[in-house]
Amino acid sequence: MLTSQRFGDQPAAVERSAGKGHTAAQEVRVEILTIGTELLLGQTIDTNAAYIGEALAAAGIDVHWKSTVGDHEARIREALRTALTRSEIVIMTGGLGPTEDDLTCRAIAAELDRPLILDQTVLESIRRRFTERALVMSGNNERQAMIPEDAAVLPNPHGTAPGLAIRVGDGRMVMAVPGVPSEMRPMLKEQVIPRLREVFGVRSRIRSRTLKACGITESALDETISDLVRLSRNPTIAVLAYPDEIHIRLTVKTESELEGDRLLDDLETTIRTRLGEFLFGRDEERLEEVVGRLLLGAKATVAVAESCTGGLVCHRLTNLPGSSAYFIRGEVVYSNDVKERLLGVPHELIAEHGAVSRPVALAMAVGMRQIAGTDLAMGITGIAGPGGGTTTKPVGLTYVALASDDDVTCREYRFLSDRDTNKLLASQKALDILRRHLLSHRHAGPI
Ligand code: AMP
Ligand code: MG
Repeated sequence: MLTSQRFGDQPAAVERSAGKGHTAAQEVRVEILTIGTELLLGQTIDTNAAYIGEALAAAGIDVHWKSTVGDHEARIREALRTALTRSEIVIMTGGLGPTEDDLTCRAIAAELDRPLILDQTVLESIRRRFTERALVMSGNNERQAMIPEDAAVLPNPHGTAPGLAIRVGDGRMVMAVPGVPSEMRPMLKEQVIPRLREVFGVRSRIRSRTLKACGITESALDETISDLVRLSRNPTIAVLAYPDEIHIRLTVKTESELEGDRLLDDLETTIRTRLGEFLFGRDEERLEEVVGRLLLGAKATVAVAESCTGGLVCHRLTNLPGSSAYFIRGEVVYSNDVKERLLGVPHELIAEHGAVSRPVALAMAVGMRQIAGTDLAMGITGIAGPGGGTTTKPVGLTYVALASDDDVTCREYRFLSDRDTNKLLASQKALDILRRHLLSHRHAGPI
């Protein structure tokens, strides 16, 4: 018996019925239902829901609800029933495998009152998968070819579990996709989303751009652009603070990509005017990449002497291919003795001011520049913690010095964080000082 239709063979029928009464995405409520006891136990992180939510949002389709249920038929049915009372589209993921605890198909069939029918085409494609891999197909794989009556099948080129799309009357639709992320993702992108956009006449798309800032506090940044955050509707602005950087995410919804880009460009220009050099990059760009590019542009070389950061600044600078064009030498000078012997930091200076002090950071930068013969050199010394702090020199106290051929400067910071974060923040400040120096000397001749 073969009653299920191939998804895509009769798209018009699906569209006409499923799309009834829904012309714009805004009217359509989508719900994600993830299935798997391991998700409830926290053994597997529900990355599928995050992926589906993000992909649907980018496609201009809003998700209103998300729920998770274990591998338990009655509870899957109950979750599906609830979802169908409030959402036009329910996207289920997980529980489509061949084993006893894979109950999604059975639960859908029972809840929607449809018999499960053996789909010969699905069975054939599962058989073929096994033959191609010279494997013996086990009996329970046949279960995966049992499809609820009148369900459209979403072929799965990456695995055995096919996806399902089932019309439920009133223009509602239940879609089931595999739980295995590498099978779910292409099925969602290639089959589910295009179909939903077509069925519900969605033409707009969402595009995002992230502007990255550092060297400014979240509150200061907020004061500078709070009116824009409040008033901007399209694009919208979201401010996300991390220990070392602040990201400003602009999100625009338009039908035309060109128009979307234009709106993003306009808003970016406004924000750039306000934040100036606090903004260092965009999207995936990292601070060390920006610094690397500036060093290349200036044809400048750099060396770094690190104490509390233990080589983190050198690590970040050398993470980039081609960094040998500007990165010459790095030294982790952890003990006082090495600071003196290698960099020539005077013994008296350390005795008088301590290893974590402005004069020592300055001497480290100058000494490093001398032994490496570079245009620029940095010296970093601080108390990473958690021990070693005093009232006058608390944990997190850090000095970052930069020496060039005509100047040597030093900044003091009090990070007051845990060891890892103090190290990260120190490396971030060092890279930002380098960036600022290169920017201010960009048109001023020799570095
Ligand atoms: P299933 O389709 O339920 O047999 O799941 C197959 C595999 O995908 C298992 O390893 C699950 O842990 C994983 N998986 C299922 N659902 C999710 C989910 N929502 N997020 C991430 N991984 C999942
Ligand atoms: Mg499962």
